Amino acid sequence: MKERLQELKEEALKKIKDSSNLKDLNDLRVSYLGKKGPITEVLRGMGKLTAEERPKIGALANTIREHIADLITEKREELEAAEVNQKLEAEKIDVTLPGRPVKTGSRHPLTKIVEEIEDLFIGMGYQVAEGPEVEKDYYNFEALNLPKGHPARDMQDSFYITEELLMRTQTSPVQARTMEKHEGKGPIKIICPGKVYRRDNDDATHSHQFTQIEGLVVDENITMADLKGTLDVFAKKMFGEDREIRLRPSFFPFTEPSVEMDISCKICAGSGCRICKQTGWIEILGAGMVHPNVLQMSGFDPKKYTGFAFGMGPERIAMLKYGIDDIRHFYTNDIRFLQQFSVQE
Ligand SMILES: [Zn+2]
Repeated sequence: MKERLQELKEEALKKIKDSSNLKDLNDLRVSYLGKKGPITEVLRGMGKLTAEERPKIGALANTIREHIADLITEKREELEAAEVNQKLEAEKIDVTLPGRPVKTGSRHPLTKIVEEIEDLFIGMGYQVAEGPEVEKDYYNFEALNLPKGHPARDMQDSFYITEELLMRTQTSPVQARTMEKHEGKGPIKIICPGKVYRRDNDDATHSHQFTQIEGLVVDENITMADLKGTLDVFAKKMFGEDREIRLRPSFFPFTEPSVEMDISCKICAGSGCRICKQTGWIEILGAGMVHPNVLQMSGFDPKKYTGFAFGMGPERIAMLKYGIDDIRHFYTNDIRFLQQFSVQE
């Protein structure tokens, strides 16, 4: 009996020593010190002992129990301390570590240019008008004085969806739609920004999808002088107060007369350089007085109303303004390209 108790003691001490967590330790306590434990089991056999041996075994059993209880308490304190340390270790904050940079997005350079142009014209009393990108042939061409079979349609190779539907090749259909909505009554003062689509092969200066902003003013007594004045204000606000503009005769089916507007080259101040192809001037946009046919088709009386229109490519303006040499940069989503524009804000 004595040996059995000693054995149990050794066994318990080893298990306590090896236990690695509080739950195991608690299980050991229940198992060795509880009423159903092996020590109690052994003591049940005391009846077989002599009266002399009984108190000795009883005392030994108590000593062993106390010893086990002490060890368990000791081990528990040890494990608890270890647990706290582990927790502290895991939650340690190194205040000397540099912070992780927070990545913020930025507005796309084209969005910035478009918004800048919008703000500029809103400041001159214009409203922003938008229209569908999948457009009727009628609004994209016919209402703009480009009947079917007109040679100028070939200048704009189009993505047709059906015979009467296409991806708009210009934002001008928004002008036609706006004029129609006004039912022959002026004034109209709008700019129309948006995406347009043409069957171009993509290269450094061409893209099958690009952006346009067009402007339209229709009212009584609108003249070419109003157009020139407006463009002059635009050019100076957009590119600098020292810029000059010049208008060259051109042709567009929806305006008569038609012009192209150049601004003086900032790089060489007119003496000629690579950017302005040695001319001292840089082409910016096309414009003109709204063709009487266009006014008439949209329900305006060309004897009473006149108007001007202009159209430009924000890509070209952004390229000039930021010195970007390839239009594809706008659409290939290279984060390094885009990040350059977040710095400026
Ligand atoms: Zn130049």
